[in-house]
Amino acid sequence: MIKNTQPISQRPLSISELFYSIQGESTYAGLPCVFIRLAGCNLRCHYCDARYTYEEAHAAMALEVILSFVEGYPDALVEITGGEPLLQENVLPLMAELVARKRTVLLETNGSLPIDTVPPEVIVIMDIKTPDSGSADSLAAGNIGAAKARNEHISGSCEIKFVLTGKDDYIWARDLVKEHALHTSCPTLFSPVKNELSPADLAAWILQDQLAVRLQLQLHTLIWPHLSRGV
Ligand code: SF4
Repeated sequence: MIKNTQPISQRPLSISELFYSIQGESTYAGLPCVFIRLAGCNLRCHYCDARYTYEEAHAAMALEVILSFVEGYPDALVEITGGEPLLQENVLPLMAELVARKRTVLLETNGSLPIDTVPPEVIVIMDIKTPDSGSADSLAAGNIGAAKARNEHISGSCEIKFVLTGKDDYIWARDLVKEHALHTSCPTLFSPVKNELSPADLAAWILQDQLAVRLQLQLHTLIWPHLSRGV
């Protein structure tokens, strides 16, 4: 492998948007958060609300510029999202630098790439794509084991999220959770796709099955229903 000799501060990332908002899709929902949204995704989920991350052209931004934006919000969480952030190798020095600066860092990933390269201090929020997503069977081999191992090392350091479109998806996710006892080792989130699955139906199924998972609504879409970017 050729060694990257470029100074870390100058290394580029393809950025879709940087913004400051309310965290909306994890156990950290409700807290102020700086978002670093990386461009590009290797999946094409039918319900995707971030198509602009892979359908539009994006300019490269040096790490030092991104870090300078984050420094403007010293008490906020920092979330790295996408697209799929792990597609860009320079996300690794970005995470390392944020951890070194004692920031609380969340990484949202679609689960298709190995998470074992992510620094242990980073809180991973990993999707497991369901059959109805359009991106089924994309989970990287070893990621369920890696998620459990992260939580054994640092409790709460890998959350697992299922985005569900209907009853068949729910049953598939429920059975996977039970098969791997995910809810006993990882914070596990069940989130309904807006306009496809009613939160009331999902709540009823979770209660009926006495399934110890967290019903997760996209908080930012409730606060700002008319905005699709920058929230
Ligand atoms: S993984 Fe996320 S960003 Fe990529 S297509 Fe699916 S929903 Fe969109």
